[in-house]
Amino acid sequence: MPSHVLNLIEGRLVPGSSGHTLDNTDPATGHVIGTLPASGGADVDAAVAAASRAFPAWSTTSAGERASILRRIADLIERDLEPLARAESIDTGKPITLARTMDIPRAAANFRFFADACENPRVETYRTDAPMPAPGGSGAPGGGSMVPGTALNTVLRRPLGVVALISPWNLPLYLLSWKIAPALAWGNTCVCKPSELTPTTAFMLSKLSVEAGLPPGVLNIVHGLGAEAGAPLVAHPGVKAVSFTGGTATGAAIAASAAPMFKKLSLELGGKNATIVLDDVDVDVPWAAAQAVRAGFSNQGQICLCGSRVFVQRRVYDAFVQKFVNKAEALRCGDPLDESTQQGALVSAAHHAKVLSYVDLARAEGGRILCGGERPKNLPGRCSGGFFLRPTVIEGLAATCRTQREEIFGPVVTVTPFDDDDDAVRLANDSPYGLSASVWSADTRRAQRVAERLEVGTAWVNCWLLRDLRVPFGGMKNSGVGREGGDEAMRFFTEATTLCVGGA
Ligand code: NDP
Repeated sequence: MPSHVLNLIEGRLVPGSSGHTLDNTDPATGHVIGTLPASGGADVDAAVAAASRAFPAWSTTSAGERASILRRIADLIERDLEPLARAESIDTGKPITLARTMDIPRAAANFRFFADACENPRVETYRTDAPMPAPGGSGAPGGGSMVPGTALNTVLRRPLGVVALISPWNLPLYLLSWKIAPALAWGNTCVCKPSELTPTTAFMLSKLSVEAGLPPGVLNIVHGLGAEAGAPLVAHPGVKAVSFTGGTATGAAIAASAAPMFKKLSLELGGKNATIVLDDVDVDVPWAAAQAVRAGFSNQGQICLCGSRVFVQRRVYDAFVQKFVNKAEALRCGDPLDESTQQGALVSAAHHAKVLSYVDLARAEGGRILCGGERPKNLPGRCSGGFFLRPTVIEGLAATCRTQREEIFGPVVTVTPFDDDDDAVRLANDSPYGLSASVWSADTRRAQRVAERLEVGTAWVNCWLLRDLRVPFGGMKNSGVGREGGDEAMRFFTEATTLCVGGA
């Protein structure tokens, strides 16, 4: 695993211009394992300049050429699956099995998907019946020189130019590649700012992109703090669009900076997602409880889509919650590099402290801690200084409590009873966020009727985290603006010109 991360600017791996570095800490041990550049405005300027120089050539390569480079990157990610998974596990604290089976394969899949998409673009055409000027006529309004005719509208799409891609720490390579792949596929050049907490796989991707033959300057990656590297990138006049995934407060700051320059903005923000369990589930079959635990605690609850508010219909509440708690308690917490670990460490000391402060808040708000709320026991010695928290389930909180309304982004789930379908919809929608939800029921049609009423970007019925890269992905309310994926990504990363040809 590389310990000294460098920026990628114009195809070269370089330190930050100031020479200052930040420490990279392994959250499972609390030890510093390397450094990354503390980049600033000068590095951002250099990266945007490189991307601007690369744009004319890259934007005019054929879709086939771009697609073949993207596929080479995917091949190289798959070749290096094991070192990438290990690096992701060490940087984030996530179980290595999760990195190996989800994060890294999905990063490769992102490159393949958008390689295919740019080779087979959706072309929008609309035929319009309308009076047309008669050939040779004057065309004057009301004159006799108009004849019935047809026009053909075709939506032409061109790349934007240099785009800024800013990503968080929870799914580092997966979410960064979810932005890089469509940006490049549609002919843009980019400057990326990964989270400073988890820089390693972005650094490894830098090298893979060079090995894959991506021309210098097409992809640039600048490491550093959000305030010092991210903010100047968003504000840079050479940047035409900003695609951001991260917290809602950061999204608001980015929108305030970018909007006066009329930059295109895609904001994928926080969530406080509902898991709704209807009373026709058979609680003796552990399916729904097992899936609700998976939705609540995967990646230590640090996936924006995690179901952190579990609503259970009153008739099955006690039996379901008992099963849910048993399963949450049974998750194996331990060294993220241990193959049997199901719950690793939280990403940083500061985040760990924040999540614990919400457990204290829940107690103060009158919540009962049904399990968790403390460090796991029996961690291996190497993990004694790591940032661990047992899966935590809390009940007895009103929907108005801060614990129920604010995004905690850790292994902390609240459970709340509801009376009927209307009540479930009301409780689930009573949130400032609107990213996703899941509904669990033996009656798919009933669950679907509930799901259709939820104010979320994605509503799952009897499944969770099932992702088809063609469908729109994103949130409403405080969970974001815009959608990613499939045609939505094409629309975001291109500018449209409607060509209207009369008499066609
Ligand atoms: P942050 O908002 O703190 O940071 C996200 C990225 O933005 C980081 O690279 C960060 O750098 C950078 N950044 C911070 N401030 C600025 C700024 N002023 N200008 C430009 N860039 C800036 O989020 P986290 O990294 O803590 O990620 C967790 C959040 O991400 C959660 O709220 C989660 O819900 C959300 N998320 C949303 C997803 C979605 O699809 N809707 C998916 C995954 C996560 P630095 O690390 O240095 O602060």
